[in-house]
Amino acid sequence: MKHHTTSLALPATGLLASLLLTALPASANSGHAAPAAHAPAAAAAPAATPPAAAEPASAAAQSPLVQQVRAAVAAHKSGQVKQVSLVINPAEARTASSAAPRVAAADHGGHGGGTSGTSREYIRAKAAALAGHAEPSGGGHGAHWDYEGENGPDRWSQLKPEFNACALGKRQSPIHIQSTDAVPGPAEPIEFHYSGSGGSVVNNGHTIQVDIQGHNYIKVRGTAYQLVQFHFHHPAEEKVNYKGFAMVAHLVHKNEAGQLAVVAVLMDVGANNPFMQKVWTRMPLDTNDRVPLPDELLNLNELLPQDQRYYQFMGSLTTPPCTEGVLWMVLKQPVTLGADQLKLFTRLFPMNARPVQAVNGRLVREGM
Ligand SMILES: [Zn+2]
Repeated sequence: MKHHTTSLALPATGLLASLLLTALPASANSGHAAPAAHAPAAAAAPAATPPAAAEPASAAAQSPLVQQVRAAVAAHKSGQVKQVSLVINPAEARTASSAAPRVAAADHGGHGGGTSGTSREYIRAKAAALAGHAEPSGGGHGAHWDYEGENGPDRWSQLKPEFNACALGKRQSPIHIQSTDAVPGPAEPIEFHYSGSGGSVVNNGHTIQVDIQGHNYIKVRGTAYQLVQFHFHHPAEEKVNYKGFAMVAHLVHKNEAGQLAVVAVLMDVGANNPFMQKVWTRMPLDTNDRVPLPDELLNLNELLPQDQRYYQFMGSLTTPPCTEGVLWMVLKQPVTLGADQLKLFTRLFPMNARPVQAVNGRLVREGM
């Protein structure tokens, strides 16, 4: 990495973080609604994320560090630099009262796209992570990650040490499933034991997820896996023989040993999906909003295709921390989803799919 950096001395890591958190607009929780001071240079930049909140014109906002951060962000937005990152030496931060934070503007020069205006959020998340704060918006893993831009999939591993597997893992998901990788001889069928259940729907900032209650489980390889939650990706993360799909539902199960088994239900655009409609009519439209479901509303059998043959392979979570050891079962027959049903989801999540990962010689088993 060829970073061009400038060094800044500052009293303490915590102060730095609070300066940044104060000066840079938090999405929802900056606490004080201060008068707006628009940054004119940034106005022309195309924003992939929702418009930034007004910046508070506080004393902290006038500090030299903040001005330098702003200059770096503006340089990033104008295309002069590719990446802006905040670097704090953890050893110094731990031992001395004067940490040496640096604002680094890295000129990667290379490929064109990707200036999405998220560098400010990146700095904010980085500062929060370094200061030991939980990421304020979305996540749940403590670092802000996204599907595009500065915190996109190719950067996940750099956001937190715990996300290392996203880059270093050799059994990552999703994958492009190809018949040529499939071993002959079908595996056992999946036994589905689903019944009417309640729970709640949450918008976690990355997807719509249903946390399900009740006794729902699958049996495969002689082991029972309890259904914990299911959620959606658009487009489908999986590819099968070069074909993509409009959406996929991931049904996440866990056995007593804590091992995960995910059943993927692929969806093409077509007839309206009555099961999906029950979820969609209760879809929380704001991040971190949660809507309770009536008891016994959802029976997952209604989502499954008639033909339940599947592809089975070992993989990982498709979101940070990209943990491996997940048993994947992708049902071959897609179900349908109405065009309007798809549109509603894409208005909230225009793209929430991780790209396909290297197969690394993995074999796929075909199941009946
Ligand atoms: Zn998923």
